[in-house]
Amino acid sequence: MENSAEDAEIVIIGGGICGLATALALHRKGIRSLVLERSDKLRATGAAIIMQANGWHALDQLGVASSLRHTAIPIQRGKTILLSEAEEEKETPLGTSKEFRCLKRADLIKAMANNLPVGTIRTSCQVLSIKLDPVTHFQHLTLSNGTILQAKAVIGCDGVNSIVASMVGLRPVRFLPLSTCVARGFTYYPDGHQFGAEFVMIIKDQVRLGRVPVSYNLVYWFVTRPSTNQDSTISKNPVLMRQSLMDSLKDFPAHTVEMIRNCDMNMLHLTDLKYRPPWDLLLDNFRRGTVTVAGDAMHGTGPFIAQGGAASIEDAIVLARCLAKKMHNNDANKRVQVEDNTLIEEAFDEYVKERRMRIFWLSLNSFLIGKKLDAQSLVVKVIILALIVVLFRDPDWHIHYQCGTL
Ligand SMILES: Cc1cc2nc3c(=O)[nH]c(=O)nc-3n(C[C@H](O)[C@H](O)[C@H](O)COP(=O)(O)OP(=O)(O)OC[C@H]3O[C@@H](n4cnc5c(N)ncnc54)[C@H](O)[C@@H]3O)c2cc1C
Repeated sequence: MENSAEDAEIVIIGGGICGLATALALHRKGIRSLVLERSDKLRATGAAIIMQANGWHALDQLGVASSLRHTAIPIQRGKTILLSEAEEEKETPLGTSKEFRCLKRADLIKAMANNLPVGTIRTSCQVLSIKLDPVTHFQHLTLSNGTILQAKAVIGCDGVNSIVASMVGLRPVRFLPLSTCVARGFTYYPDGHQFGAEFVMIIKDQVRLGRVPVSYNLVYWFVTRPSTNQDSTISKNPVLMRQSLMDSLKDFPAHTVEMIRNCDMNMLHLTDLKYRPPWDLLLDNFRRGTVTVAGDAMHGTGPFIAQGGAASIEDAIVLARCLAKKMHNNDANKRVQVEDNTLIEEAFDEYVKERRMRIFWLSLNSFLIGKKLDAQSLVVKVIILALIVVLFRDPDWHIHYQCGTL
């Protein structure tokens, strides 16, 4: 790897959804960036991602929405089934009133990566530390292979355990105060499945199964269940993971257990949930000098409203727009030079200002829903429900948001 300042005006740390979206948004505005990803290839951990209307708006801005629409069927309706003595089925909006599709994460990653100029992404590049050179005012990034790279600006898209977040002074992430873990996976039906274009949640006590078709052959599912002491062992072994899920679903309809039995063992994933408390998002600094954060590094939340990925793409659009505005050049065909640190700092501040309340409310909504699901006491459940109703009268408020044009 070269040690080159020109090559690294803006360095993005992390080649996940947010890092790639940020690089693509900057590219669309004529701003060059370099993405450093620690893995040896771009990863798509977690099988699939639900993309709702606000996410599609952001993907439209990136110019990748139309090709992605060919990969995932539109979901027409959602319903919840409560398995109790008297099985109860109720139609719930589940956010499907507007565009709602379930994307394979690999398709999303590929669509963004393929639209970036060659050489934008460097894999096997783990960033260990970032230091400001007081003389040149460049950020010095030390990589795990010993290389030192200089950058005018750094955007940390390095996920929930972000080193950049700690560097800009964000408080550490915590484990979600819920005794819940989440498993996700795919099941392929060679002759087509019978689930139509419907998103279904089936709930029994503390176990919830969500099922969303990606196509007429492929179904994405997730299971939340109480964590156990064996989970760290189970999560490393797909056979144990599948068995533990089938055990958790023993009182569920037979076809759901079959779905897990026939799942793609290579795509199984079991994880604990980490988050930044919503109230931290109100107060924390998201910028230090010419370094800022986006995506889960900024606002990792529980997945209860399926918005973390979409919000990360919104971050990318807003960040690129703010930077481009400051560079006084909206001509996408012209390469913009990032020359003035003050301009970068002002752009990052505008970005943070625009994003702060959006990510606060998303995070609070997700947090309260998670707490309600987890609460054992009926009184606590009712109090949380009342809070949700008062604060989020429209349950689809988060999908009506539009991050604006690039
Ligand atoms: C169970 C679950 C279900 C979810 N479902 C949905 C959903 O349906 N819809 C939705 O919108 N969102 C969903 N989310 C949230 C969504 O997955 C995340 O918000 C999104 O993936 C965040 O992307 P990111 O790029 O910020 O972080 P990540 O995807 O974590 O990417 C970070 C990248 O940075 C790299 N990296 C880390 N450290 C370094 C370093 N030091 N140097 C170089 N590279 C580094 C990592 O290897 C990784 O590739 C869900 C989350 C969970 C946990």
